[in-house]
Amino acid sequence: NVAVVLYTSDLRLHDHPPLRAALSSCDRVVPLFVRDRAVDAAGFAAPNRLAFLADCLADLDAGLRERGGRLVLRSGDAVAEVLALVRECDADEVHMAAGVSGYAHAREERLRSALEADGVRLYVHEAVVTVAAPGAVLPAGSDHFAVFTPYFRRWSELPPRAVVPAPRSVTVPEGIGSDPLPRRADLTGVSPGLPRGGEREARDLLTRWLRAGLSRYEDSHDDLAGDATSRLSPHLHFGTLSPTEAVQRARAATAPAADPGAEAFVRQLCWRDFHHQVLAARPEAAARDYRDRRDHWRTGAAAEEETEAWKEGRTGYPVVDAAMRQLRHEGWMHNRGRLLTASFLTKTLYVDWRIGARYFLDLLVDGDLANNQLNWQWVAGTGTDTRPNRVLNPVRQGLRYDPAGRYVHRWVPELAGLDAPRVHEPWRLPASERARYAYPDPIVELADGLDRFRSGRGAE
Ligand code: FAD
Repeated sequence: NVAVVLYTSDLRLHDHPPLRAALSSCDRVVPLFVRDRAVDAAGFAAPNRLAFLADCLADLDAGLRERGGRLVLRSGDAVAEVLALVRECDADEVHMAAGVSGYAHAREERLRSALEADGVRLYVHEAVVTVAAPGAVLPAGSDHFAVFTPYFRRWSELPPRAVVPAPRSVTVPEGIGSDPLPRRADLTGVSPGLPRGGEREARDLLTRWLRAGLSRYEDSHDDLAGDATSRLSPHLHFGTLSPTEAVQRARAATAPAADPGAEAFVRQLCWRDFHHQVLAARPEAAARDYRDRRDHWRTGAAAEEETEAWKEGRTGYPVVDAAMRQLRHEGWMHNRGRLLTASFLTKTLYVDWRIGARYFLDLLVDGDLANNQLNWQWVAGTGTDTRPNRVLNPVRQGLRYDPAGRYVHRWVPELAGLDAPRVHEPWRLPASERARYAYPDPIVELADGLDRFRSGRGAE
């Protein structure tokens, strides 16, 4: 008999419970990926992510071919395509990983009823995309945790799920047609420094990171120039790496001692699960305020011009501009950069978080509905931050997290000749020296930004 495995955000062979289950109950399996038109139409077809996806699909196909199988690619409506394939190969069952977004839930339901009508069973596997399934731990009287720390405590107590090995062989029925796989080289508009995708790359990166980066992580994860974070986020987003495996290997790498680097890294992976369980319970939070702070976000020509300057990295605040230029160049931004640029947009320019979140999704290779929208809401103070009115001062952030100015020098070459700490406040230079740097003055005074945020938030 035959099973179809529908791949979504889980493009791997290692630790893949749906593939494992399909192979244990059926002798032939069709690994399927559908280029879902609805996902593209909703604005998720950003060149950086499509390029990374192309790498991931090519690598998944190569991994399957090594095992005697191959990947089948189709395009269209995911439900219609699965149904057509099930009929084509006379499949008995379909396996997939559970998703968290409103769209993913609706797709599962549509698929379940369409398959049921054909007498085919759908198996939706939990805890594939995240370590813990949303809802695996719940506070009394609520359908999700709204505060991170108690969630982390309960999440840490969950018994670990056994990591599932990659299959040795996969047999795909004969005669199943596939669209040609996309190729990165065919795409335009891709950031020049975009990392490479695929499961092999993810596993190599994890191994290198555990060996060389993990022990420094706690002390240096906020160092903008040191770039001492794992850079695993695109792999976790596309599922070329299992988050469960990442947690277990981080702990094993430092066992038997509890290493502060490993624990800090695992805590960040828990943040990922935390935002996923919020989105699963509140799918509308992808677009609407999780907590309404009665914001009267600025609109109009001045706000639009300032937003453009923010996007292009010419706000006149060097660390903000450096981070925005890193985003454009690499399709990735350091977490500290994401925090301070998002705070600048929402609390200094006082522009709606949705505008910033949209721009990030257009560029980020790890752009993810749960992590992006809910981190933006966290920073904007409309989300789960318990201190919703905190404002990050970009000068102090620069002095603290880029003390030698190396991050600014790397991304804002106009200021390369200016030493730290002066590089974080070029407008303070004497006029004659200031004139040497072709770099804009601040588009807004920080004190004015603070005033408009304070008077706009909650104003009637
Ligand atoms: P590491 O520091 O090595 O952390 C390991 C992993 O933990 C990351 O790969 C990621 O999966 C997870 N993680 C770390 N921090 C967070 C966090 N705050 N929330 C959720 N998961 C986290 N992350 C995304 O994956 N996709 C996004 O679209 C995204 N948008 C963001 C937008 C804003 C405004 C902010 C403030 C943060 C956003 N993040 C997002 C979270 C975080 O910035 C990135 O996950 C991190 O910078 C990725 O780099 P890394 O893999 O080197 O992280």
